[in-house]
Amino acid sequence: MEKIFRTAQLIQQSNYIVGFTGAGISTDSGIPDFRSHDCGLWNNVDPLVVASIYGFRRNPQAFYDWVRPLAEITINAAPNAAHLAFVQLEQIGKLSAIITQNIDMLHTRAGNTNIFELHGHLRQATCLHCLEVYDGEIILKQLLMNHQVPKCTACDNGVLKPNVVLFGEQLPFRELQAAQDASRKCDLMIIVGSSLEVAPASDLPVLAKRSGAKLIIINLDPTPIDHLAEVVIHGRAADVLPKIVKQVELKIT
Ligand code: NAD
Repeated sequence: MEKIFRTAQLIQQSNYIVGFTGAGISTDSGIPDFRSHDCGLWNNVDPLVVASIYGFRRNPQAFYDWVRPLAEITINAAPNAAHLAFVQLEQIGKLSAIITQNIDMLHTRAGNTNIFELHGHLRQATCLHCLEVYDGEIILKQLLMNHQVPKCTACDNGVLKPNVVLFGEQLPFRELQAAQDASRKCDLMIIVGSSLEVAPASDLPVLAKRSGAKLIIINLDPTPIDHLAEVVIHGRAADVLPKIVKQVELKIT
């Protein structure tokens, strides 16, 4: 409880707070992270092949066969108590932005407004041939029904790719720049549910620290930068974050 109090105190003392999230914030919404054992997502596939842009171009059917179960869970997932705690923080003026590596759109569905989606999202898909943009959720629902690679109807059957960043692709330039600006500007970064092993996203907490921010880390497992943080809490995000926000609210009222 001492760490909860300390974190609430840091939130009160800070003026520009940024949340930085990874797959771990969404596991309690039923969406597995990529590094958990026995979730099955990486079983029998090489991520660098199936979830890379090279692999996608060579064999889109293999990508869609792999992504289908994840797409089904994501379409039906709801924000959990950790996402909602970030919404409460924003509503009381204690959260300026969220930088997320997640593609699941749960921060948006929860109600946060200033979100930088570093690795893209599933709400759109783009034709690799003519660049026509489609509603991603409609495309994924079709995929769940027919198991076929989604094709463009505007051109000569170009393959549609969800607007997510695959291995080997650049991060969206404007999102990355805005996330870097927020990382330089913040005085507190709350990092939740990330192994901090995927660069360049994982560089942002270090950038925040170098720019003078304090770091809070809430994660089940240790991360490579635990030693840089003011407070490290090894616990479930959906359990820990609401307790912190409750303390902040108690002190404000
Ligand atoms: P990761 O899988 O590398 O690490 C997740 C971390 O979250 C782990 O260290 C784990 O200990 C922790 N964790 C798991 N459940 C938790 C919980 N309930 N509370 C607190 N911590 C918890 O995730 P990453 O660092 O985000 O990197 C994975 C990459 O895969 C990202 O690029 C992301 O785009 C992508 N991904 C996204 C989703 C999603 O959108 N929900 C899901 C899987 C993977």
